[in-house]
Amino acid sequence: MSNSTENPRGIGVSPGAAVGPVVQVRAHVRPPENEPAPADPVAEHARIKEVFESVARTLEERAAGADETAQQILTATALIARDKGLAKGVLKELNAGKGPTRAVTDAVGTYAAQFEALGGYFAERVTDLKDVRNRVVARLLGQEDPGVPEFHVPSVIVAHDLAPAETATLNPTLVRAIITEAGGRTSHTAILAAQMGIPAVVQLVGARDIPVGTIVAVDGDSGEVTLNPSAAYQEELIGKRERRRAALAGSSGPGRTADGYPVKLLANIGGVEDAQSAAAQDVEGVGLFRTEFVFLSRDTAPTLEEQTDIYTKVFQPFGSRRVVVRTLDAGADKPLAFADLGPEENPALGKRGLRLQALRPELLDTQLEALSKAAKATSAEVKVMAPMVATAEEAAWFARRVRENGLPSVGVMIEVPGAAMASRHVLAEVDFGSLGTNDLAQYTMAADRMEGALSDLLDPWQPAVLAVIGAACEGAKIAGKPIGVCGEAGGDPLLALVLAGLGVSSLSMAPSKVGIVRYALGLHSMAVCHGMATAALDSRTATDARDAVLAMAHEDLAALL
Ligand code: PEP
Ligand code: MG
Repeated sequence: MSNSTENPRGIGVSPGAAVGPVVQVRAHVRPPENEPAPADPVAEHARIKEVFESVARTLEERAAGADETAQQILTATALIARDKGLAKGVLKELNAGKGPTRAVTDAVGTYAAQFEALGGYFAERVTDLKDVRNRVVARLLGQEDPGVPEFHVPSVIVAHDLAPAETATLNPTLVRAIITEAGGRTSHTAILAAQMGIPAVVQLVGARDIPVGTIVAVDGDSGEVTLNPSAAYQEELIGKRERRRAALAGSSGPGRTADGYPVKLLANIGGVEDAQSAAAQDVEGVGLFRTEFVFLSRDTAPTLEEQTDIYTKVFQPFGSRRVVVRTLDAGADKPLAFADLGPEENPALGKRGLRLQALRPELLDTQLEALSKAAKATSAEVKVMAPMVATAEEAAWFARRVRENGLPSVGVMIEVPGAAMASRHVLAEVDFGSLGTNDLAQYTMAADRMEGALSDLLDPWQPAVLAVIGAACEGAKIAGKPIGVCGEAGGDPLLALVLAGLGVSSLSMAPSKVGIVRYALGLHSMAVCHGMATAALDSRTATDARDAVLAMAHEDLAALL
């Protein structure tokens, strides 16, 4: 954080510039250890009931000013806060000798388990139940309600970190930018922000200390955040944004290098709204539809009918353009309540992605059936790929299931180094590969992508990561199969040139990044891209690699970076 004279930075993860007042997101609080039991459980119960009532009133007040969908949710949640059965449960826990916040937490836990067992509508309410619990616990401890507070003017949201589900529910018209203290380049919150077209900076030290209401200027490209920016600085920032816009306005249409080699430019999307907004932009289709994003806040598995409806709505806006769908990539930092296999020591190395699908094949079967129906109902060129494939056997297993469902094109993500090194065998089983550079960097460098402090290791410019990508491309060439990129690396205009030089035939990214990548490709020949790839691979460090490629880049591109 900085004033306009010294500008230390976080990491810019979603492009664009914005200025606005700060809204701080408050963290959830947990019951304190060794909370004393109340001397008079009945009196304590009366106090707790008042707190539940005050939460119900707050929710009703919020409902009054909200749109119809939010109104329904908030009113239903207020009803839960007044539920007599829940109040009785709290009294039972107090009588068992528990302190107030522990009693509330455990009573809600029991109730949530009952709701889940009932399924259907009740199971859907578990999230609301937990929301009530979080508010009541905070109020009992004399703190403000956790989560994103209500706000009505366009603002800059600041948090220690945001869960993907929290980010997905932000109203993009009211959120000018997002800043987090934690998070990293490839954390799912960063990815969602870019998809929503909201400028974002992660890893900003001291972000949580910025007072609420402070005006900040956020540069989502450089990662620079300026407190109380001067009018001159705001103009400079807007000037930069305009220069970039003017340069990019001159290039449109399919991606190609200066000498005409096609490199498809595709969008990463996470649901129906993304599909509608991406389809209206200048993209050649979708290179990654993260289907798990649609179901992040669901407690029960979506039915065949629900999924068919959603996928049809996603495909339709693209007409006959390509849409690559990834089957559910649940687990690790994207847990899905209905696909939970219990705690693991190392979730990122555990039963996630395709491994989870193999253990819960009914989830995959329903999804493939729904995709097949939606594909038949629309004219999109639908392709289906699996996440987290490690071996040729896994690729063959997945391909068989996809083809059995009558889907014409099957692929795999190459995001495990093992699959990258064996790509000629893995890709021989399928029609195409797509490099997931986010996970590929995480596993190549043994650095948790959620651990913002390890950002340097996770940098996709690391020559070792580029070497693994290069090996995967070589294998694809031997197998005679196309390979693209759908990780965040594809949206970095300089790195996109290196990737094209390494042999990828498509780049998929947040639609907000497509313009600059198209511009970059159009300024460089394939021979220059090859040279850049060689220079990056020959470098000793990530910084050297980027510097070497920047030195070879066209001056018009360099001027915009
Ligand atoms: C990746 O790992 O690069 C990828 C595209 O998938 P996700 O970010 O959803 O894990
Ligand atoms: Mg991945």
